Order: sequence, then structure tokens, then C-alpha cells
Amino acid sequence: MRIGIGFDLHQLVLGRPLWLGGVQVPSERGALGHSDGDVILHAVCDALLGAAGLGDIGEHFPDDDPRHAGRRSEDFVRDVMGKVRERGLRPGNVDVNVFLERPYLRVFKSQIRERLAKLVGLPEGLVNVKARTMEGLGAIGQGEAVAAQVAVTLVDA
Ligand code: MG
Repeated sequence: MRIGIGFDLHQLVLGRPLWLGGVQVPSERGALGHSDGDVILHAVCDALLGAAGLGDIGEHFPDDDPRHAGRRSEDFVRDVMGKVRERGLRPGNVDVNVFLERPYLRVFKSQIRERLAKLVGLPEGLVNVKARTMEGLGAIGQGEAVAAQVAVTLVDA
């Protein structure tokens, strides 16, 4: 079994949609970024690439490459899943921590879990999403940023 970890953080700005795990969460602020700024999916990509020994998301989808501008992060996950399968591997489970002050994600966690499970081809019982605030502290606590960390396991396909 292989373990991979991923982390991502994006600045939050007014007037951008907030995408988390492929789900659009109603919010005044959304993630600034070259793509749709989905921190969960970017961290998922890095965790999958890490477990597969395939580097990081920046090597595969450089953000100074205009081909990736405005691309949906779900496409990145699909691409990465293809690379994982090419190596003869498949995900065993996925565990997510998302750090966001507002809105509370309580009601969105199950939607995110469902979407993520579909994207990586796992039953929902093998995908977990945890959400927490930073109690008003730091950039995330002040509502200026959103972050996610992800752990995945890969097993032989
Ligand atoms: Mg990112």
C-alpha cells in the first residue's frame, strides 16, 4: 500500500465562485486562481501523484501554461486518475480536511463526499470529508483564504 498527502491554499476574493471538491458552495467570496481554484481537488491531485511517485500538480499542469487557464479542477483529477491507473494502481481511501471560516460547510460535506467518491471511483464509505474553522485566527480565520489537506492510499489495481 502507498500513502500520499496533498495540501493547497488559495486566496479568497469577492465576486469569484467558491468550488470545493467539485461542488459550488454559495459564498460572497471565491478562490483566486488560474483554474477554478478548487483547493480540495488540487490537494487530491497532489496526494494521488505523491502516492504514485509522480511528482506534483505544478509539474503536470503548470499555471503559466495558457492551456490550463480556466480549466475545471475535475479535469485535473480525471487526468491524474488516468496516470494512477497507468501505473497499475487504484485509490484505497481518501480523507480530506478543509479549512474555511465562512460559510460553514456542515450542509455541503455530504455533497462534496459524493462528488469526490465519483471522481476517484470509490464508494462513499471510503471517502471522508472533515471541515473546520480557524477560530478567527490568521488569514484563513480572517476569511482571506481557504485551504485543504488530503491523504490518500493507493493499492494495486
Ligand atoms: Mg491550487
